[in-house]
Formats: sequence, C-alpha cells, structure tokens
Amino acid sequence: MINNLRVKLLGSFFLVVAIAVGTIAYIASMAAVTQFDRYVSQDQAERYQRLALTYTNYFRYSGGWDEVSTLTDKVAEMYSERVVLTDPDGIVISDTTGELTGKQISENWSNKKIGLNQGEYSIGRMYIKTQERSELQKAFLGSVNKSVITGAIIAGLAGIVLAALFSRNIVNPVLNLTKATKKMQEGDLDQRVEITTNDEIGALSRAFNSLANRLKQQKQLREEMVSDVAHELRNPMSNIQGYLEGLKEGMIEPSEEVFQSLHQQSLVLNRLINDLRDVNKAKVGKLDLEKKQIVLEDVVSNAVKSVGNRAREKGVTINLHLPDSTLVTADPERISQVVRNLLDNALIHTREGGKVTIHLNSEDGEAVMDVIDTGIGIPPEDQQRIFDRFYRVDKSRSRGTGGSGLGLTIAKEIVEAHEGSISVKSKAGAGSVFTVKLPTIDDFSE
Ligand code: ADP
Repeated sequence: MINNLRVKLLGSFFLVVAIAVGTIAYIASMAAVTQFDRYVSQDQAERYQRLALTYTNYFRYSGGWDEVSTLTDKVAEMYSERVVLTDPDGIVISDTTGELTGKQISENWSNKKIGLNQGEYSIGRMYIKTQERSELQKAFLGSVNKSVITGAIIAGLAGIVLAALFSRNIVNPVLNLTKATKKMQEGDLDQRVEITTNDEIGALSRAFNSLANRLKQQKQLREEMVSDVAHELRNPMSNIQGYLEGLKEGMIEPSEEVFQSLHQQSLVLNRLINDLRDVNKAKVGKLDLEKKQIVLEDVVSNAVKSVGNRAREKGVTINLHLPDSTLVTADPERISQVVRNLLDNALIHTREGGKVTIHLNSEDGEAVMDVIDTGIGIPPEDQQRIFDRFYRVDKSRSRGTGGSGLGLTIAKEIVEAHEGSISVKSKAGAGSVFTVKLPTIDDFSE
C-alpha cells in the first residue's frame, strides 16, 4: 500500500494541504482575537479615563465624596464592569456592588487602578475589575472562528479534490508506461503510449515511443536480413547443388566448363559472405578503419588500374580529371573499395563504346569525386533505394553479373564513417553520376 505511487502522492498532498490550511486558519483566528482584544482594551481605557474624570469633577463640585454612591449607582447601571472608589488610604467609599463599602481594599485587588487628583493632592483611587469577555463579545469571536474553520474545511476539501486530480494526471501515464513496458517485455513491440503533456512525463512517454519504434525497426531489419540472406544464398547454392547432383548421377560430363561454372558460383558465394560481413561491421560501427593522411589521387589511380583490363575488354574508355594532390584523412583500403565499386558498377552498366569519367575536385574543405558514366542510367524511383541492402534495379541481370546488391550499401557506410556523403544523379538511358564527398585537410604536417 505504502509502495503505491498514488497513495504516496495523495498522502503528501494531504499532509501539505492539512499543514498549510491548519496554519493559516490558526494564524487568522489568533490575529482576529488579538485585534479584537486590542480594540476592546483601547475602548475600555478611554471609557475608564472618562469615568475617572467624572468622579474627579464630582469631588470638585461637591467638595468631597458625600453622596457619591448615587453616582456609583448610575455607574453600576451603565457599566458592566465593577467599579470601586476608595480614599487615598484605600478605604472603600463606594462600590458598584456595595460589597466592599467601608472596607480596606488590598493593593492587588485589580490591576486596573486610576489615581484621582485635585491639583497636586490625591483625592482617592478608582479600581475597575473587568469582566471576562461579555456574551456578545464571545458570540462575535465564536462566529469569527466558525467562519475561519468553515473556510479552512472548504479550502482543505478543494485542495484534496485537486490533489486527487493532479495525482491522477501524474500516476495514470506512469501506469500506462509500466503496462506498455511489461507488454513489450513479453514481445509485443507494437506498444505505444499516448503523450498528453509536455513535461518530464511527456518526455518519458516520447522516449518510450521512440525506443519502441527503434526496437520494432531493428526487429524488422533483423527479420528482413535473415530472409534476404537466405534468399541470396539460395541461388548460388542451388546452382552448385544442381551441378553436383548432375555430376554424381552422370547426367553432366565433368568438363572444364562445368568446373569453371562451379568455381564461379563459389566466388559469388564468397563475395556475398564478405560483403555481408562488411555490412554487418558497418551497421555496428566496427569497420576498423585505419585512417591516415592520404593523397586521394593515388587511391583513385590505383583503383582505375585494377579495372583497366576489364574496361579494355568491354571497349569502354576511362577518362581521369584529377588535380595535383587532394589530402584526406582516410583508410586507403576502404576508400579504394568505394572507388572500385563505383567503377565496377559504371563498367557493368555501360555499353561498348561508352565512357566512364572520374572527376576530382576540392572545394570548401571538401574533396568532391564524381564517377560519371554514359550507361543505362537508373530510373528516378530507384535512385535512393540503390543504397539499400540487396536492392538491385534489374534483379536477374545484376545477379548474372555476380553483384550482391550490397556494394553501394557498403560504399555508403564507408563514406559516412569518414564523415562524408554519397549521392547519385541519373537519367535512364543517358547515364549516371555518383558523387562522393570527403572532408579534406590543408597540410601534411598537421
Ligand atoms: P550490385 O552488387 O548488384 O552492383 P550495388 O549495391 O553496387 O549492387 O548496386 C545496386 C544496384 O544499383 C545495381 O544492382 C544496379 O541496378 C544499380 N546501379 C549501380 N550503379 C549503377 C550504374 N552506374 N548505372 C546503372 N545502375 C547502377
């Protein structure tokens, strides 16, 4: 029970409301009583001074205290307090109750005592005993207290109702989050929570939703990857299996051509496996780049040399437009892999007599390399997707060329791991331009 968030919140709210309302009610009531008493005693002091003056005037006009009891009787009618008049020695001359008349009064009979003087001479003393609060005064204070208590109860109840609403607003999203997390833990990745506020709980809900999205995406990717890989392996594997079965049953003669074909299929498998390993490494950020300062032109020239024969055989010319020395910090092997992949693709998709041009340029701290071909081009709808895993524009044709559909995926991962970018512009039937941008450095000595 005590571990329940709602109970904890309500308990804390209740305590805060009770303490706040109780303190305010107490202070308000005390202030009312104090102010009231102050007003009453100020009023009394003025009245008692007037009464003292009345007695003094009586003494002056009568020449003494004779018959003063008639005045005291009137005072008894008008005042609710008890008033005792004594001579300077404390012998009671008159008393509003008549009780003490003729007796000696004790000094501390009342703390309200006014000396009566005529000129410099003392003519007597007046003692007043105030009553406790009158019924009227008690009723007034009672009604003030009643109002304060009623106000406190109303404020307290309103506070508790509001606290219950607030705690519901806080607790409900937390409960929803807990429920969704539990379901997600059981494998249901479609769980999302409603975002109702813009505060920390809203931010938590948003973070939960994006985490759920990520998890779902990753699960999808994993599933797709497994099915893609299985699909890609099936072709070369069934080719190899077909040949081997044919050979075993004596249906196919073991010729050089057959072994060449088997070898070709095993190369396709090998390339697929290597590419898959690269994609996987790149996805988890473990391409193990050995970055150093390199001259980009050297890497490009070497890559061009490696495809030289193939270009000649196909009757495609390769033109180079390279400036002197473009310095980049990069892994030469990986950058060479990117350039070779772009050249391979350009050669594969360019017909005899076509041209492949590499154009390298530095601008604004960036090396910009364009690989331009006059090949078959890429339809607009495929241009972004060719960087996706296993995506091929013409599947049967590309498989025939031994392409894994992973080359551009790996190229993109490598370039991005060097803080660069890769993009394509192409026109179906006219050719394609692949642009790689890499950050450059100014000086070797750095
Ligand atoms: P693959 O190993 O199949 O070449 P890539 O990832 O390198 O895989 O390329 C993906 C697809 O993009 C290719 O199958 C091809 O359809 C298309 N493509 C790539 N480069 C070019 C190009 N220069 N001209 C036309 N199509 C291209």
